[in-house]
Amino acid sequence: MTMSALGEPCVLLKLGEIVLKGKNREVFERRLIANIRDALKSLDLKVDVRKRHGVIAIFLPQGATAEQARAVAERVADVPGLVWIHQAWRVAKDPDTVLKAGLELVGESEEAKRGARFAVRSRRRDKRFPLRSNELDRLVGGAINDEYGLPVDLKNPELTVSIEVDRDEVFVFTGGIPGQGGLPVGSSGRALVLMSGGIDSPVAAYRMMRRGLHVDFLHFSGIPFTTSESIYKAYALVRKLDRFQGRSRLWVVPFGKAQQSIRTSGQDRLAVIAQRRLMLKTAEEVAHRIRASALITGDALGQVSSQTLANITAQDNAVELPILRPLVGWDKTEIMAEARRIGTLEISELPDEDCCTLLAPKRAETRAKIEDLRQIEKRLDAEELCVQLADSIQEYTL
Ligand code: ATP
Ligand code: MG
Repeated sequence: MTMSALGEPCVLLKLGEIVLKGKNREVFERRLIANIRDALKSLDLKVDVRKRHGVIAIFLPQGATAEQARAVAERVADVPGLVWIHQAWRVAKDPDTVLKAGLELVGESEEAKRGARFAVRSRRRDKRFPLRSNELDRLVGGAINDEYGLPVDLKNPELTVSIEVDRDEVFVFTGGIPGQGGLPVGSSGRALVLMSGGIDSPVAAYRMMRRGLHVDFLHFSGIPFTTSESIYKAYALVRKLDRFQGRSRLWVVPFGKAQQSIRTSGQDRLAVIAQRRLMLKTAEEVAHRIRASALITGDALGQVSSQTLANITAQDNAVELPILRPLVGWDKTEIMAEARRIGTLEISELPDEDCCTLLAPKRAETRAKIEDLRQIEKRLDAEELCVQLADSIQEYTL
Protein backbone atom coordinates (compact mmCIF):
# COMPACT_ATOMS: atom_id res chain seq x y z
CA MET A 1 0.00 0.00 0.00
CA THR A 2 1.35 3.41 -0.92
CA MET A 3 0.95 6.27 1.51
CA SER A 4 -1.32 9.04 0.28
CA ALA A 5 0.13 12.54 0.17
CA LEU A 6 -3.37 13.90 0.65
CA GLY A 7 -3.54 14.77 4.32
CA GLU A 8 -6.91 15.08 5.98
CA PRO A 9 -10.15 15.76 4.14
CA CYS A 10 -11.74 19.08 5.05
CA VAL A 11 -14.10 21.66 3.61
CA LEU A 12 -13.07 25.18 2.70
CA LEU A 13 -15.65 27.95 2.49
CA LYS A 14 -15.43 31.25 0.62
CA LEU A 15 -17.46 34.12 2.05
CA GLY A 16 -19.84 36.22 -0.04
CA GLU A 17 -20.80 39.82 0.53
CA ILE A 18 -19.43 39.73 4.06
CA VAL A 19 -16.00 40.50 2.65
CA LEU A 20 -17.29 43.97 1.72
CA LYS A 21 -18.13 44.73 5.35
CA GLY A 22 -15.96 47.04 7.36
CA LYS A 23 -15.77 47.28 11.13
CA ASN A 24 -18.77 44.99 11.72
CA ARG A 25 -17.46 42.19 9.55
CA GLU A 26 -16.69 40.11 12.59
CA VAL A 27 -20.31 40.18 13.75
CA PHE A 28 -21.38 38.75 10.40
CA GLU A 29 -18.64 36.12 10.47
CA ARG A 30 -19.60 34.97 13.94
CA ARG A 31 -23.22 34.66 12.86
CA LEU A 32 -22.21 32.71 9.77
CA ILE A 33 -20.06 30.30 11.75
CA ALA A 34 -22.89 29.71 14.24
CA ASN A 35 -25.27 29.02 11.33
CA ILE A 36 -22.79 26.57 9.80
CA ARG A 37 -22.44 24.71 13.09
CA ASP A 38 -26.23 24.55 13.44
CA ALA A 39 -26.67 23.22 9.91
CA LEU A 40 -24.09 20.49 10.50
CA LYS A 41 -25.74 19.21 13.67
CA SER A 42 -27.99 16.97 11.61
CA LEU A 43 -24.98 15.08 10.25
CA ASP A 44 -23.92 13.73 13.62
CA LEU A 45 -20.23 14.21 12.94
CA LYS A 46 -17.89 16.07 15.24
CA VAL A 47 -16.60 18.93 13.15
CA ASP A 48 -14.38 21.85 13.97
CA VAL A 49 -15.39 25.09 12.25
CA ARG A 50 -12.55 27.63 12.20
CA LYS A 51 -12.09 31.08 10.87
CA ARG A 52 -8.99 31.42 8.74
CA HIS A 53 -7.56 34.37 6.93
CA GLY A 54 -10.60 35.48 4.89
CA VAL A 55 -12.03 31.95 4.63
CA ILE A 56 -13.69 29.42 6.91
CA ALA A 57 -12.34 25.89 7.24
CA ILE A 58 -14.28 22.89 8.49
CA PHE A 59 -12.03 20.18 9.87
CA LEU A 60 -13.38 16.67 10.19
CA PRO A 61 -12.51 14.19 12.93
CA GLN A 62 -9.45 12.02 12.40
CA GLY A 63 -10.06 9.16 10.01
CA ALA A 64 -13.02 10.88 8.34
CA THR A 65 -13.64 9.81 4.77
CA ALA A 66 -13.96 11.83 1.58
CA GLU A 67 -17.66 10.83 1.50
CA GLN A 68 -18.18 12.42 4.89
CA ALA A 69 -16.43 15.56 3.67
CA ARG A 70 -18.76 15.60 0.69
CA ALA A 71 -21.81 15.30 2.95
CA VAL A 72 -20.53 18.28 4.95
CA ALA A 73 -19.90 20.27 1.76
CA GLU A 74 -23.39 19.53 0.43
CA ARG A 75 -25.03 20.51 3.69
CA VAL A 76 -23.23 23.86 4.03
CA ALA A 77 -23.97 24.65 0.37
CA ASP A 78 -27.48 25.55 1.62
CA VAL A 79 -26.25 28.04 4.22
CA PRO A 80 -26.61 31.65 2.99
CA GLY A 81 -23.50 33.83 3.16
CA LEU A 82 -21.11 31.56 1.22
CA VAL A 83 -20.18 31.79 -2.43
CA TRP A 84 -18.02 28.67 -2.84
CA ILE A 85 -17.70 25.40 -1.01
CA HIS A 86 -14.61 23.31 -1.72
CA GLN A 87 -14.00 19.79 -0.64
CA ALA A 88 -10.29 20.14 0.10
CA TRP A 89 -7.29 18.37 1.55
CA ARG A 90 -5.24 19.80 4.35
CA VAL A 91 -1.59 19.03 3.85
CA ALA A 92 1.69 19.88 5.53
CA LYS A 93 3.28 23.19 4.73
CA ASP A 94 6.18 22.24 2.54
CA PRO A 95 6.46 22.47 -1.24
CA ASP A 96 7.25 18.80 -1.73
CA THR A 97 4.12 17.59 0.09
CA VAL A 98 2.00 20.12 -1.77
CA LEU A 99 3.44 18.91 -5.06
CA LYS A 100 2.65 15.27 -4.27
CA ALA A 101 -0.85 16.14 -3.11
CA GLY A 102 -1.52 18.07 -6.32
CA LEU A 103 -0.31 15.14 -8.42
CA GLU A 104 -2.41 12.66 -6.52
CA LEU A 105 -5.57 14.78 -6.74
CA VAL A 106 -5.21 15.18 -10.49
CA GLY A 107 -4.37 11.47 -10.91
CA GLU A 108 -7.67 10.56 -9.24
CA SER A 109 -9.82 12.99 -11.20
CA GLU A 110 -12.17 12.11 -14.03
CA GLU A 111 -10.94 15.12 -15.99
CA ALA A 112 -7.38 13.77 -16.11
CA LYS A 113 -8.60 10.51 -17.60
CA ARG A 114 -10.17 12.50 -20.42
CA GLY A 115 -6.93 14.41 -21.00
CA ALA A 116 -8.43 17.69 -19.83
CA ARG A 117 -6.72 21.07 -20.19
CA PHE A 118 -5.68 22.22 -16.74
CA ALA A 119 -4.37 25.12 -14.68
CA VAL A 120 -2.85 25.46 -11.23
CA ARG A 121 -3.85 28.49 -9.20
CA SER A 122 -2.01 29.15 -5.99
CA ARG A 123 -2.64 31.74 -3.36
CA ARG A 124 -0.19 32.49 -0.60
CA ARG A 125 -2.00 33.92 2.39
CA ASP A 126 1.09 33.28 4.52
CA LYS A 127 3.96 35.17 2.97
CA ARG A 128 6.56 33.18 4.93
CA PHE A 129 6.02 30.18 2.67
CA PRO A 130 9.28 29.70 0.67
CA LEU A 131 7.68 29.79 -2.79
CA ARG A 132 5.72 32.68 -4.27
CA SER A 133 2.38 31.77 -5.76
CA ASN A 134 3.56 31.87 -9.37
CA GLU A 135 6.55 29.69 -8.45
CA LEU A 136 4.23 27.19 -6.82
CA ASP A 137 1.97 27.25 -9.91
CA ARG A 138 4.92 26.42 -12.12
CA LEU A 139 6.33 23.73 -9.83
CA VAL A 140 3.04 21.83 -9.49
CA GLY A 141 1.84 22.55 -13.03
CA GLY A 142 5.14 21.32 -14.52
CA ALA A 143 4.96 18.08 -12.53
CA ILE A 144 1.35 17.42 -13.57
CA ASN A 145 2.28 18.05 -17.18
CA ASP A 146 5.27 15.65 -16.96
CA GLU A 147 3.41 12.94 -15.10
CA TYR A 148 0.10 12.83 -16.98
CA GLY A 149 0.86 14.71 -20.19
CA LEU A 150 -2.10 17.06 -19.68
CA PRO A 151 -2.02 20.34 -21.62
CA VAL A 152 -1.89 23.59 -19.62
CA ASP A 153 -4.61 26.15 -20.33
CA LEU A 154 -4.51 29.17 -18.05
CA LYS A 155 -7.35 31.04 -19.75
CA ASN A 156 -10.02 28.39 -19.97
CA PRO A 157 -9.05 25.27 -18.02
CA GLU A 158 -11.35 22.26 -17.71
CA LEU A 159 -9.64 21.29 -14.47
CA THR A 160 -8.31 23.77 -11.93
CA VAL A 161 -6.01 22.72 -9.14
CA SER A 162 -6.22 25.25 -6.33
CA ILE A 163 -3.52 25.60 -3.71
CA GLU A 164 -4.04 27.93 -0.76
CA VAL A 165 -1.19 28.46 1.64
CA ASP A 166 -2.40 29.40 5.12
CA ARG A 167 -0.72 30.08 8.43
CA ASP A 168 -0.86 26.50 9.74
CA GLU A 169 -1.48 24.41 6.66
CA VAL A 170 -1.94 24.26 2.93
CA PHE A 171 -5.30 23.47 1.31
CA VAL A 172 -5.34 21.66 -2.01
CA PHE A 173 -8.50 21.07 -4.04
CA THR A 174 -10.12 20.85 -7.45
CA GLY A 175 -13.59 22.08 -8.31
CA GLY A 176 -16.25 23.22 -5.84
CA ILE A 177 -19.96 23.75 -5.30
CA PRO A 178 -21.44 27.25 -5.70
CA GLY A 179 -22.98 28.52 -2.47
CA GLN A 180 -26.21 30.49 -1.96
CA GLY A 181 -24.47 33.87 -1.73
CA GLY A 182 -26.11 36.63 0.26
CA LEU A 183 -25.77 37.27 3.98
CA PRO A 184 -25.94 34.99 7.02
CA VAL A 185 -29.50 34.32 8.19
CA GLY A 186 -30.25 36.37 11.28
CA SER A 187 -27.82 39.18 10.51
CA SER A 188 -30.66 41.40 9.24
CA GLY A 189 -33.21 40.53 11.93
CA ARG A 190 -36.54 38.71 11.84
CA ALA A 191 -39.56 38.93 9.57
CA LEU A 192 -42.88 37.21 8.91
CA VAL A 193 -43.68 35.73 5.48
CA LEU A 194 -47.26 35.57 4.25
CA MET A 195 -47.12 32.11 2.79
CA SER A 196 -49.93 31.05 0.51
CA GLY A 197 -48.94 27.65 -0.81
CA GLY A 198 -48.59 29.18 -4.28
CA ILE A 199 -45.40 29.52 -6.31
CA ASP A 200 -44.38 33.04 -5.39
CA SER A 201 -44.35 33.30 -1.61
CA PRO A 202 -41.84 30.46 -0.98
CA VAL A 203 -39.45 32.10 -3.44
CA ALA A 204 -39.96 35.46 -1.71
CA ALA A 205 -39.15 33.80 1.63
CA TYR A 206 -35.98 32.28 0.23
CA ARG A 207 -34.78 35.57 -1.28
CA MET A 208 -35.22 37.37 2.03
CA MET A 209 -33.48 34.63 4.03
CA ARG A 210 -30.59 35.20 1.67
CA ARG A 211 -30.59 38.85 2.65
CA GLY A 212 -30.04 37.87 6.25
CA LEU A 213 -33.58 37.64 7.64
CA HIS A 214 -34.70 34.77 9.79
CA VAL A 215 -38.33 34.24 8.84
CA ASP A 216 -41.47 32.80 10.39
CA PHE A 217 -44.26 31.65 8.07
CA LEU A 218 -47.92 32.70 8.30
CA HIS A 219 -50.61 30.91 6.33
CA PHE A 220 -54.30 31.82 6.08
CA SER A 221 -56.46 28.76 5.53
CA GLY A 222 -60.09 28.76 4.44
CA ILE A 223 -61.00 26.56 7.40
CA PRO A 224 -63.79 25.79 8.31
CA PHE A 225 -64.99 26.12 4.71
CA THR A 226 -62.11 24.29 3.03
CA THR A 227 -60.12 21.15 3.75
CA SER A 228 -56.72 21.19 5.48
CA GLU A 229 -54.90 20.56 2.21
CA SER A 230 -53.51 24.07 1.95
CA ILE A 231 -52.02 23.70 5.43
CA TYR A 232 -50.24 20.49 4.43
CA LYS A 233 -48.87 22.26 1.41
CA ALA A 234 -47.68 25.23 3.41
CA TYR A 235 -46.10 22.83 5.88
CA ALA A 236 -44.34 20.89 3.12
CA LEU A 237 -43.03 24.16 1.70
CA VAL A 238 -41.72 25.29 5.06
CA ARG A 239 -39.97 21.95 5.49
CA LYS A 240 -38.36 22.37 2.10
CA LEU A 241 -37.17 25.88 2.96
CA ASP A 242 -35.97 25.07 6.47
CA ARG A 243 -32.59 23.85 5.23
CA PHE A 244 -31.64 27.44 4.48
CA GLN A 245 -32.26 28.79 7.99
CA GLY A 246 -33.29 26.14 10.56
CA ARG A 247 -35.79 26.58 13.43
CA SER A 248 -38.64 27.43 11.08
CA ARG A 249 -42.14 27.92 12.44
CA LEU A 250 -45.42 27.85 10.55
CA TRP A 251 -48.37 29.76 11.96
CA VAL A 252 -51.84 29.06 10.60
CA VAL A 253 -54.87 31.35 10.89
CA PRO A 254 -58.32 29.86 10.24
CA PHE A 255 -59.61 32.60 7.99
CA GLY A 256 -62.80 31.19 6.48
CA LYS A 257 -65.28 32.99 8.72
CA ALA A 258 -63.56 36.35 8.37
CA GLN A 259 -63.74 35.93 4.61
CA GLN A 260 -67.38 35.17 4.78
CA SER A 261 -68.01 38.43 6.61
CA ILE A 262 -66.05 40.32 3.95
CA ARG A 263 -68.17 38.74 1.28
CA THR A 264 -71.43 39.60 2.99
CA SER A 265 -70.35 43.19 3.59
CA GLY A 266 -71.13 43.86 -0.10
CA GLN A 267 -68.67 45.54 -2.51
CA ASP A 268 -67.84 42.41 -4.49
CA ARG A 269 -65.12 44.07 -6.53
CA LEU A 270 -63.25 45.20 -3.44
CA ALA A 271 -63.43 41.87 -1.65
CA VAL A 272 -60.01 40.59 -2.71
CA ILE A 273 -58.15 43.71 -1.69
CA ALA A 274 -60.17 44.07 1.53
CA GLN A 275 -59.23 40.53 2.38
CA ARG A 276 -55.59 41.17 1.61
CA ARG A 277 -55.63 44.17 3.95
CA LEU A 278 -57.19 42.07 6.69
CA MET A 279 -54.47 39.45 6.18
CA LEU A 280 -51.81 42.13 6.47
CA LYS A 281 -53.36 43.64 9.59
CA THR A 282 -53.52 40.20 11.19
CA ALA A 283 -49.95 39.50 10.10
CA GLU A 284 -48.85 42.76 11.71
CA GLU A 285 -50.50 41.75 14.98
CA VAL A 286 -48.76 38.36 14.84
CA ALA A 287 -45.46 40.01 13.92
CA HIS A 288 -45.60 42.15 17.06
CA ARG A 289 -46.22 39.07 19.18
CA ILE A 290 -43.25 37.16 17.76
CA ARG A 291 -41.02 40.24 17.48
CA ALA A 292 -40.74 40.26 13.71
CA SER A 293 -40.02 43.69 12.26
CA ALA A 294 -41.22 43.32 8.67
CA LEU A 295 -43.76 41.46 6.56
CA ILE A 296 -42.82 39.65 3.35
CA THR A 297 -45.13 38.81 0.44
CA GLY A 298 -44.69 37.20 -2.97
CA ASP A 299 -46.27 40.13 -4.84
CA ALA A 300 -44.93 40.94 -8.32
CA LEU A 301 -46.05 44.18 -9.92
CA GLY A 302 -48.98 43.69 -12.30
CA GLN A 303 -49.01 39.89 -12.07
CA VAL A 304 -52.65 39.76 -10.93
CA SER A 305 -55.30 42.42 -10.29
CA SER A 306 -54.44 42.67 -6.60
CA GLN A 307 -50.90 43.65 -7.55
CA THR A 308 -51.45 46.85 -9.50
CA LEU A 309 -49.66 49.92 -8.20
CA ALA A 310 -52.88 51.33 -6.75
CA ASN A 311 -53.65 48.10 -4.95
CA ILE A 312 -50.12 47.74 -3.64
CA THR A 313 -50.50 51.27 -2.27
CA ALA A 314 -53.76 50.25 -0.60
CA GLN A 315 -51.98 47.29 1.00
CA ASP A 316 -49.04 49.33 2.28
CA ASN A 317 -51.55 51.72 3.78
CA ALA A 318 -53.14 48.96 5.90
CA VAL A 319 -50.14 48.45 8.17
CA GLU A 320 -47.24 50.31 9.71
CA LEU A 321 -44.62 47.61 9.34
CA PRO A 322 -42.72 47.63 6.07
CA ILE A 323 -43.94 45.08 3.51
CA LEU A 324 -40.96 43.58 1.71
CA ARG A 325 -41.69 42.34 -1.80
CA PRO A 326 -38.49 40.82 -3.16
CA LEU A 327 -40.23 39.60 -6.34
CA VAL A 328 -41.79 42.94 -7.28
CA GLY A 329 -39.73 43.21 -10.48
CA TRP A 330 -39.66 39.53 -11.45
CA ASP A 331 -41.44 37.84 -14.36
CA LYS A 332 -43.45 34.71 -13.65
CA THR A 333 -40.99 32.62 -15.68
CA GLU A 334 -38.10 33.89 -13.56
CA ILE A 335 -39.98 33.12 -10.35
CA MET A 336 -40.78 29.63 -11.59
CA ALA A 337 -37.18 28.93 -12.53
CA GLU A 338 -36.04 29.97 -9.06
CA ALA A 339 -38.80 27.87 -7.44
CA ARG A 340 -37.58 24.87 -9.44
CA ARG A 341 -33.98 25.51 -8.39
CA ILE A 342 -34.78 25.66 -4.67
CA GLY A 343 -37.12 22.67 -4.88
CA THR A 344 -40.43 24.34 -3.99
CA LEU A 345 -42.08 24.34 -7.42
CA GLU A 346 -43.35 20.78 -7.41
CA ILE A 347 -44.97 21.29 -4.00
CA SER A 348 -46.51 24.62 -5.02
CA GLU A 349 -47.98 23.06 -8.15
CA LEU A 350 -49.95 20.47 -6.20
CA PRO A 351 -53.65 21.28 -6.35
CA ASP A 352 -55.20 22.87 -3.27
CA GLU A 353 -57.91 25.14 -2.08
CA ASP A 354 -56.60 27.92 0.09
CA CYS A 355 -58.77 30.68 1.38
CA CYS A 356 -58.41 32.72 -1.84
CA THR A 357 -60.40 30.23 -3.89
CA LEU A 358 -63.44 31.10 -1.79
CA LEU A 359 -63.32 34.68 -2.87
CA ALA A 360 -63.01 35.09 -6.59
CA PRO A 361 -65.21 37.90 -7.89
CA LYS A 362 -65.97 38.07 -11.60
CA ARG A 363 -64.35 41.45 -11.88
CA ALA A 364 -61.76 42.54 -9.34
CA GLU A 365 -61.05 46.19 -8.70
CA THR A 366 -57.66 47.25 -10.03
CA ARG A 367 -57.82 50.76 -8.54
CA ALA A 368 -59.12 50.28 -5.05
CA LYS A 369 -59.82 53.50 -3.14
CA ILE A 370 -58.55 53.52 0.38
CA GLU A 371 -61.65 55.40 1.61
CA ASP A 372 -63.93 52.62 0.32
CA LEU A 373 -61.76 49.99 1.98
CA ARG A 374 -61.86 51.86 5.28
CA GLN A 375 -65.67 51.85 5.09
CA ILE A 376 -65.71 48.08 4.73
CA GLU A 377 -63.25 47.72 7.60
CA LYS A 378 -65.37 49.91 9.86
CA ARG A 379 -68.38 47.68 9.22
CA LEU A 380 -66.27 44.60 9.95
CA ASP A 381 -64.58 46.10 12.99
CA ALA A 382 -61.31 45.04 11.41
CA GLU A 383 -59.16 46.30 14.29
CA GLU A 384 -60.86 43.95 16.72
CA LEU A 385 -61.18 41.15 14.16
CA CYS A 386 -57.46 40.95 13.46
CA VAL A 387 -56.69 40.61 17.18
CA GLN A 388 -59.21 37.75 17.39
CA LEU A 389 -57.68 36.12 14.33
CA ALA A 390 -54.22 36.40 15.84
CA ASP A 391 -55.59 34.81 19.03
CA SER A 392 -56.91 31.85 17.08
CA ILE A 393 -53.56 31.08 15.50
CA GLN A 394 -52.06 27.58 15.53
CA GLU A 395 -48.36 26.88 15.60
CA TYR A 396 -46.62 24.10 13.70
CA THR A 397 -42.98 23.65 14.63
CA LEU A 398 -40.69 21.56 12.48
P1 ATP B 1 -48.45 33.04 -4.49
O1 ATP B 1 -47.92 32.24 -5.60
O2 ATP B 1 -47.42 33.34 -3.44
O3 ATP B 1 -49.74 32.46 -3.93
P2 ATP B 1 -49.96 34.67 -6.19
O4 ATP B 1 -49.34 35.01 -7.47
O5 ATP B 1 -50.95 33.56 -6.17
O6 ATP B 1 -48.83 34.43 -5.10
P3 ATP B 1 -51.79 36.24 -4.71
O7 ATP B 1 -52.55 35.01 -4.47
O8 ATP B 1 -52.49 37.47 -5.14
O9 ATP B 1 -50.61 36.01 -5.70
O10 ATP B 1 -51.02 36.57 -3.35
C1 ATP B 1 -50.07 37.58 -3.26
C2 ATP B 1 -49.33 37.39 -1.94
O11 ATP B 1 -50.23 37.48 -0.83
C3 ATP B 1 -48.73 36.01 -1.82
O12 ATP B 1 -47.47 35.94 -2.44
C4 ATP B 1 -48.64 35.85 -0.33
O13 ATP B 1 -47.51 36.52 0.19
C5 ATP B 1 -49.89 36.53 0.15
N1 ATP B 1 -50.97 35.54 0.30
C6 ATP B 1 -51.96 35.24 -0.58
N2 ATP B 1 -52.75 34.27 -0.09
C7 ATP B 1 -52.28 33.91 1.11
C8 ATP B 1 -52.65 32.95 2.11
N3 ATP B 1 -53.67 32.14 1.95
N4 ATP B 1 -51.91 32.88 3.24
C9 ATP B 1 -50.84 33.70 3.41
N5 ATP B 1 -50.45 34.59 2.51
C10 ATP B 1 -51.14 34.73 1.37
MG1 MG C 1 -51.79 32.68 -4.49
